Amino acid sequence: MTPSPVGPRPVLVCGAGGFIGGHLAARLLAEGHRVRCADVKPLRSWFQLHPGAENLSLDLSHREQAAAAVAGVRDVYNLAADMGGIGYISTHRADCMLSVLINTHLLLAARESGVRRYFYASSACVYPDYRQDRTEAQPLAEAMAYPAMPEDGYGWEKLFSERMCADFAADYGLAVRVARFHNVYGPHGSWDDGREKAPAALCRKVARAVRSGGGEIELWGDGRRTRSFTYVDDCVEGVRRLMESGHDGPLNLGSSELVTVRELADLVCATAGVRLRYRHDLTAPTGVAGRNSDNALVRSVLGWEPSVPLSAGLAATYPWIADRVGRAEEAAA
Ligand code: NAD
Repeated sequence: MTPSPVGPRPVLVCGAGGFIGGHLAARLLAEGHRVRCADVKPLRSWFQLHPGAENLSLDLSHREQAAAAVAGVRDVYNLAADMGGIGYISTHRADCMLSVLINTHLLLAARESGVRRYFYASSACVYPDYRQDRTEAQPLAEAMAYPAMPEDGYGWEKLFSERMCADFAADYGLAVRVARFHNVYGPHGSWDDGREKAPAALCRKVARAVRSGGGEIELWGDGRRTRSFTYVDDCVEGVRRLMESGHDGPLNLGSSELVTVRELADLVCATAGVRLRYRHDLTAPTGVAGRNSDNALVRSVLGWEPSVPLSAGLAATYPWIADRVGRAEEAAA
């Protein structure tokens, strides 16, 4: 990848107090860019606070605050959204829908202030339920998002926002980039706030079982649903490559290493060096039966695809979460 020349105008990372945004801001700083970070959370609650960046606590769903964030920047990375794992998005559909205000006001501000490129973080949740009803998941190619029937709430908002980006490109000439992330995991993200996804939740449960000597953890569902999980370094690499490419349509950014939830749990246990029994909660939300990423287009457009094995990504994620579990238990004691 040949990065753009480092210019005097900063780049903006929206949602930088969150998981992927915090990693992306670190990457952009390491590349030598001037970075402005914005997130609705107070700075003390950001997963990563980079002293080398300009860090702003702003509600980007408000037009004036979005305009203040975008003022004077060269590129916008929009990773700000009200979201979480299946437990969160299945019970906060309206809240997830309201993220449309963030993208709307950021696009308007980008159009008005002459932003060069605009990145939008979409999701594999845009793909229709009817293509994901088997655990032998058919890899999802970008064109399969239509005819549309995405995940209620969160998925519809992502699909609509993708289209709004495309229409701003068509009508106003804004250069847009749209990635569909597939289950991103890694350190410095939600692990116990109700928004955590399966890899982080399982790391937390295993770490607690290790500390307490308990021999069992709970799995949501029967453990047979299948997913692919993308390590955050791969996600950030893909975002940067996509931003530097000329590709303006939606692009999968996801691992194609398909595993069952039970295999994911087994890998977390192996990472922790324990063997545990699983108790299945069959009433918990579990999402579609199977989902995998078709990476033909990302290979052809970027000459690259996510490649960090799940075992290697968990080896970097589990210690961070186990450390958080330990600190939380010691603070509560
Ligand atoms: P995250 O929740 O850790 O980060 C999102 C951040 O957006 C949070 O820090 C939140 O405070 C911020 N935010 C929410 N509302 C805001 C507002 N009104 N103004 C400013 N900031 C606001 O989530 P993440 O996992 O880092 O996800 C980043 C992006 O990637 C999101 O758009 C998400 O939908 C998308 N995505 C993530 C995954 C994944 O597996 N993590 C998968 C698909 C898509």
